[in-house]
Amino acid sequence: MRIYSLLLLLLLACASGARADAPDLELRGEITFADYHHYRSVPFTVPAGVERITVVFDYTGKDAHSVIDLGLLGADGSLRGWSGGSKRVFTISSVDATPSYLPTPIVAGQWALLLGIPNIRADQTARYTAQVYFSRGLAIADEPQVLRVPLKSGAAWYRGDLHMHTAHSDGSCASEGGSNIPCPLYLTVQAAAARKLDFIAITEHNTISHAQAIRELQPYFDHLLLMPGRELTTFSGHANLFGTVAPLDFRISAEGYPDGNGLLDAAAKLGGLVSVNHPRLPSGEMCMGCGWSNPADLRKVQAIEAVNGTDADSLLWSGIPFWQEQLQHGLRPTAIGGSDNHKGGQARSDGNRVGTPTTVVYASELSQLAILDGIRAGHVFVDVDGSSDRMLELSATVGDAGTSKHVIMGDDLAARSGAVVHFTAHVAHVAGARIELILDGVDAGLLAQTDIDSDDAERPFNWTSDGKPHWLRASVRDRHGHLLLLGNPIYIHPVSAP
Ligand SMILES: [Zn+2]
Ligand SMILES: [Zn+2]
Repeated sequence: MRIYSLLLLLLLACASGARADAPDLELRGEITFADYHHYRSVPFTVPAGVERITVVFDYTGKDAHSVIDLGLLGADGSLRGWSGGSKRVFTISSVDATPSYLPTPIVAGQWALLLGIPNIRADQTARYTAQVYFSRGLAIADEPQVLRVPLKSGAAWYRGDLHMHTAHSDGSCASEGGSNIPCPLYLTVQAAAARKLDFIAITEHNTISHAQAIRELQPYFDHLLLMPGRELTTFSGHANLFGTVAPLDFRISAEGYPDGNGLLDAAAKLGGLVSVNHPRLPSGEMCMGCGWSNPADLRKVQAIEAVNGTDADSLLWSGIPFWQEQLQHGLRPTAIGGSDNHKGGQARSDGNRVGTPTTVVYASELSQLAILDGIRAGHVFVDVDGSSDRMLELSATVGDAGTSKHVIMGDDLAARSGAVVHFTAHVAHVAGARIELILDGVDAGLLAQTDIDSDDAERPFNWTSDGKPHWLRASVRDRHGHLLLLGNPIYIHPVSAP
């Protein structure tokens, strides 16, 4: 075997969070009959600070029945996995790895691809190429694009569930024999696929051990984006962390962070998105630490779980008033929902099913980063019952033709005093329900006609700015007053006269 080139590609933009995507190394070489029935190692140097190695491997000569099997040796020379001829791409980190490989701390030093040559004909030469990517962090944004291929391209409203538990924490269900057992993750995923969701986040209590299972399941569930998350579960509140699989100490106590700000800062450092969960659940022996009693600065969170399970309309437990209080304080957390399902696909009498509620996100594509960007931007409404098709859109324009700006829920709109803002509320598949418009937390009675009499309805209305900051959002309720859809606000802020 001859390794004829080892190119170190310059890495100029590899800071954590960078989305630039060139391999750090390209290893090339030739295999000939001299390598037949031998194992060859292809060494490469892993620099300090690398948290994930991803390899894309290919070779020529398959039509002549040349075969090169693939494995990996760690810095200590030990075998870290063997995928043979089964995978063109693999990734490995301390937390998760492609099936065939062992999650392994990425120690700086000389690693090696291990090539096995079960067949090559006497007159053949096979040329291999291995592109090696080094990730400096364990945020999803740190992963090379080859691991982040979108499941669907194109901007659209995507439907998902952002909160659930499996065997990796306290999810449980009946075994085949009828015993109550930690519920395998794939049952939860199957339940989400059966509801035709576009994405789910598995959010185990304080652990990310399920990231490994997700590596195995994602290729099979190729219509359902699987997002590893975790529920930071403290004595003074719960918060979901999305967008990273990096280990994170969650303890707010004498043994850990002195207060919640320390934990939220640590989560931010990992490139994560944080949502305060079920903030108004009672805390006590029924549900320990469930209510949010943490005095942390909520500017450090990007979302609030306004709807947890079926509690949207609960007088005591709904997260919606808590969320709106933050909006009144000038904060901009996005309202999201999560089922908090703990039972896989098994039905529960309280209706806490995977996908109820559904969080609907306007995203540029169906990928983790795009869904998280959509949540950060507030391009989100919550479908409380988890229907498959109910729609709620709020958009606005202000200004003259040519200079007008069009925005949707979650966006900013600058309007000087006296400016007329043209809003449009659009709803679908909620005939018989009514639209509610909430201005700064109060039903403002801005619509002449709130009843929805068709399957697809638009309600345009004008509103004149008083030059002060406001937030305006829409909800939809059925004829009994039950909340169906909860929209995020458009944020109106003043502009000074030129
Ligand atoms: Zn919780
Ligand atoms: Zn939970």
